[in-house]
This record gives sequence, structure tokens and C-alpha cells, in this order.
Amino acid sequence: PIKKAFSVKPLVGESLSLVLRGTNVKAAIEIPDDVCVIEADEGQISQAFNNIVINAVHAMPGGGTLTVAGEDTVMEIGNPFGLAPGPYLRISFSDQGCGIREEDLERIFDPYFTTKTSGTGLGLASTHSIVARHGGIVLVDSVLEKGTTFTIYLPSTGHCV
Ligand code: ADP
Ligand code: MG
Repeated sequence: PIKKAFSVKPLVGESLSLVLRGTNVKAAIEIPDDVCVIEADEGQISQAFNNIVINAVHAMPGGGTLTVAGEDTVMEIGNPFGLAPGPYLRISFSDQGCGIREEDLERIFDPYFTTKTSGTGLGLASTHSIVARHGGIVLVDSVLEKGTTFTIYLPSTGHCV
């Protein structure tokens, strides 16, 4: 892993313009310009985000908006996620798609779990392991016929651009 310090906002912009090009999914980016930089493998983080954005496109075949929100936060000692205390970036991807069935929610991060006829089931497993390797966590919150939000916590430097 090649770690360097970078701001996620331009990375999110690149991921969205690449993946959403030619689809009828619109992007809304709600990330402050001065959000703290993270120290991470940029290629891997890009892959982790892309996997989620691709799934959002699949979930909204009729189009819709994908909202990506980012903010700085701090994890306290004894936080419910079992994360090390310190500064974190919290980034969420919210789609307006089909949602995920309750019984599927606990399996979506498993390698090869897919509900798609030609899915690999490897996207979220990859995102999960990339984020875990960086000391973070991926959470999911979904309502059928309403949409799905993936929230990622990644350790940040606590230093802003
Ligand atoms: P694949 O996309 O190849 O199926 P993933 O690991 O990316 O594999 O996703 C696993 C499964 O999780 C999908 O098949 C789908 O059932 C569900 N899923 C993931 N993201 C979303 C989403 N944004 N909306 C609805 N379902 C989703
Ligand atoms: Mg996928």
C-alpha cells in the first residue's frame, strides 16, 4: 500500500464524473473544501468509492440523485464501532434506489454475494477490506423502495487543506 496525504473531495469528484458519465444519475457533492486530509492509498480508496458508486447506478436504473456528503469527526474512546480514538473523515453515499432487503443486509459484504444476474459479488467485499485495512469501517442503512446509504469512516490526519 502506497500511503500519501490527500483530500477526498477531488477524488470523489473524479469517481463520480467517471462512473456517472452516460448514466441518468446526477451527483450532489456535499463536502467542505477544507475537509481534513487523509493518509491512505489513493488508488485503493478510489476503488472503494467507485464500487459503491457503481452499485448506486445499478440501484437507480430510472435515474436519480446520488448524494455524497463528507465531514470531519472525532471518535471517542469506547465508541460503538470499536474504532481507535482520534480524528476521522465520515463520508456517506446516499442513493434513491431500490434498497436492500433486510435478510440480504448482513450478507452484502460477503465475497460472491450478489442479487444481480451477472454480478460478481466482489465490489462491497473489496470496499469493506480496503476500508478495514485503513483502520476504518463501512456501515449500511437501507429502506426498500426509498434508497440506501453507505457510510464510511476513515482515520484522518486532523489537518485540513
Ligand atoms: P455486485 O454489484 O456484483 O452484485 P457487490 O458486492 O457490489 O456485488 O454488491 C452486493 C449486493 O449488494 C448487490 O448484488 C445488491 O444486492 C446489494 N447492493 C449493493 N449496493 C446496493 C445499493 N446501492 N442498492 C441496492 N442494493 C445494493
Ligand atoms: Mg457491485
